[in-house]
Amino acid sequence: MSRIAENIKRIVVELGKIQLIVVSKYRSIAEIQEAYDAGHRVFAENRVQALLERKESLPADIQWHLIGHLQTNKVKFIAPFVRMIHSVDSLKLLVEIDKQAEKNNRVIDCLLQVHIAQEETKFGFSPEELMAFLKEGNWQQFKNVRICGLMAMASLTESTGQITQEFELVRALFAEAKQSYFSSAPEFKELSIGMSSDYAIAAQHGSTMVRIGSAVFE
Ligand SMILES: *Cc1c(COP(=O)(O)O)cnc(C)c1O
Repeated sequence: MSRIAENIKRIVVELGKIQLIVVSKYRSIAEIQEAYDAGHRVFAENRVQALLERKESLPADIQWHLIGHLQTNKVKFIAPFVRMIHSVDSLKLLVEIDKQAEKNNRVIDCLLQVHIAQEETKFGFSPEELMAFLKEGNWQQFKNVRICGLMAMASLTESTGQITQEFELVRALFAEAKQSYFSSAPEFKELSIGMSSDYAIAAQHGSTMVRIGSAVFE
């Protein structure tokens, strides 16, 4: 078995019921094909251009997720096929996703990205902005968007305590959002937290989806 196949197999066993999204950014088509040949079908990219190029060169039954910042003018390129957008961080973006999804006769699954890390450069709603956004209620008007949960990234730190605290914060936000706004929406069930360096922690703090790149390919 190839190294990539072995990594996937090991991680899938570790994860149990948690879904593995393989992050293929920066990898070659041959490497991604190797993961595909190992039986994996769910991949993610952080840039629209890369996503489109890879989709062109790889088998059609791959489910592509977008995990990076998305500009409204690029939504139209991925709307025909994208399986889930993890990085929704404004009403404006949601408006555009709904519009493009409707044009394609689709409903697009989305996650709201929450900024919980210490680093300032990352995108996403702050916890306060998220709750204000939900309270305002404009997101309820969309027919071609399904809000399925939250996505977040923890700080880049060695401190397990810090990472745990951040994951617990987003988990609490998820619970609050679920109770107040999505109690009759069974699709609101995903918490996309955990990457190569911290997925073991995320798995113990409510993760339902992990986004893993280097631990699969290295
Ligand atoms: C790159 C990336 C990942 C995966 O990172 P690894 O450390 O390679 O596992 C996960 N989520 C997002 C948003 C990313 O940009």
